[in-house]
Amino acid sequence: MTAQLQSVREHIWYFPPDPDAQSPQPGVGIIITPNATVLVDAGNSPQHARQIRTVLREIAAPPVAYIIYTHHHWDHTFGAQIWGQPIVVADEQCRTLLLETYGSHTRHTPHQDGTESAASLASAATQRVVGDWNAFRLVPPHITFTGKLSLNVDERTISLTHIGGQHAPDSIIVRCDDVLFLGDCYYPPPMYLREPEDTLDFAMIEALLAEQAAIYIDAHGLPRTHAEFAQLLAQG
Ligand SMILES: [Zn+2]
Repeated sequence: MTAQLQSVREHIWYFPPDPDAQSPQPGVGIIITPNATVLVDAGNSPQHARQIRTVLREIAAPPVAYIIYTHHHWDHTFGAQIWGQPIVVADEQCRTLLLETYGSHTRHTPHQDGTESAASLASAATQRVVGDWNAFRLVPPHITFTGKLSLNVDERTISLTHIGGQHAPDSIIVRCDDVLFLGDCYYPPPMYLREPEDTLDFAMIEALLAEQAAIYIDAHGLPRTHAEFAQLLAQG
C-alpha cells in the first residue's frame, strides 16, 4: 500500500517512513512554494521515489526544483534519478562520501573476516529495492556548502546547517519556518559500524531542542512536537 502524505504545515508535507519495509525506507520531506517543490531526501530507490511522485501529482505539486540530501546514505539518496533535473544540495563532504561509498555498489562482497564494507552492505540491502542496476545511477550533489546555506525559493527561506555527528560526518539539518528536518543526525552510527554501547547522541538532542523548532522530523520517525522530541532525553 502506498503511504499517504502527512500535512505538517500549509506548505510542508511529509511522506512517512515505512517501518515494515524489508530495507530501510526513510520519510521524505516536501516543501511546496508557488512554483517549485523542494524535497528533503530523495527516497531509497527509484521505486520508492516513484511512489512519492504519484502522491505529489495527486496534490498537483509544482515540479521538483531542488533535492536536499540530509546525508549521503543510500536510503536517502538512491531515489534521486527519477526527479528530472532538480538541483541537488548537500554538505561539502557528501559528494565524496557518496561516490567513495557507493561508486561500485553493485557487488555484494563481505571481507574474509566476515565484516562488510558500507558499499557491500548497501548492496545487499539495495538489491531488494533497486532492481535493475543497469538503469540505476547515482546523483551526486550539484551544490555543496560548508557550515550554513540559505536557499531562497519563491518567498520561502530554507536554512541548511551542517551538524555532523556520529551517524554521518556530512549530516545537515534543514529548517523551514518552525519545522526542523533532522535526517538521521542524532542516531547511533549506521549498523555496520555500530557497537553495543552506542546510543542516541543526547548532547546533539539538547542542541536541537535549543533550536526551538515547533516540529521535529527525523527520517525514520514521525513528526514530533518540541515536548515529544524532548522525551528522547529520558532514554539517556
Ligand atoms: Zn543514515
